[in-house]
Amino acid sequence: MASAPRPLVAGNWKMNGLKGSVGELSKIMSGCGELSRKADLMICPPTTLIAAFADAARGSQLQIGAQDCHAEPSGAFTGDVSAEMLADAGASAVIVGHSERRTLHNETDAQVRAKALAARRAGLIAIVCIGETRAEREAGQTLAVVGRQLEGSLPEGASGDNLVVAYEPVWAIGTGLTPTVDDVSKVHALIRQILVRNLGLTGDVTRIIYGGSVKPANATELLGIANVNGALIGGASLKAADFLGIAGVYGA
Ligand code: PEP
Repeated sequence: MASAPRPLVAGNWKMNGLKGSVGELSKIMSGCGELSRKADLMICPPTTLIAAFADAARGSQLQIGAQDCHAEPSGAFTGDVSAEMLADAGASAVIVGHSERRTLHNETDAQVRAKALAARRAGLIAIVCIGETRAEREAGQTLAVVGRQLEGSLPEGASGDNLVVAYEPVWAIGTGLTPTVDDVSKVHALIRQILVRNLGLTGDVTRIIYGGSVKPANATELLGIANVNGALIGGASLKAADFLGIAGVYGA
């Protein structure tokens, strides 16, 4: 059996942060040194801050990611940003298919897959988000929904080096609610199975991270579950102490 992949703890700042937020970033960077021996650490700020954050983080152990990209490399797409532009600004990864994009921008699995392919084309890691809504969970469809989204969003040529899958139950995002250990464990086991079936050996070392109301207080339990290889953190990543408190699970 392959050894467990190196964990990734990534913060999604969403539409939060101004130039002055580089101060919070510095606090995160100053706590990263020791922790980065055991896990990859990443902050995904809004697009406006990627270049400044990438400059500030140069030489540190903190990676900078983005929150979305267009599938095309360039062209007449007013207001959009390509994966190549994100790479040029200093990002090393991009989140695609976040539930807020799927819901508020009607993104489909096919579009998410095209964005993940664009990420690979630009040399970025694609963090592909999948997860069921509350209604789907209550209807007992969690595994079917997650399986369908993953199969539909998986890009060709994916490997442990260029793909991370984030399981984010929609009802757990920003609500303070979390699934049980048993629920997370079943979903991550299914994701692992699908990755191995589609990608072969590299599916075993592709990171599957959990997102949805991860906090310092529940991180030990959630990140200790089999096949949970890190976390995608929204609200709690905006404060250095909380982000480092969660990542600290891997330093303990
Ligand atoms: C997210 O939006 O990706 C997320 C996990 O948010 P939160 O941690 O705030 O639930």
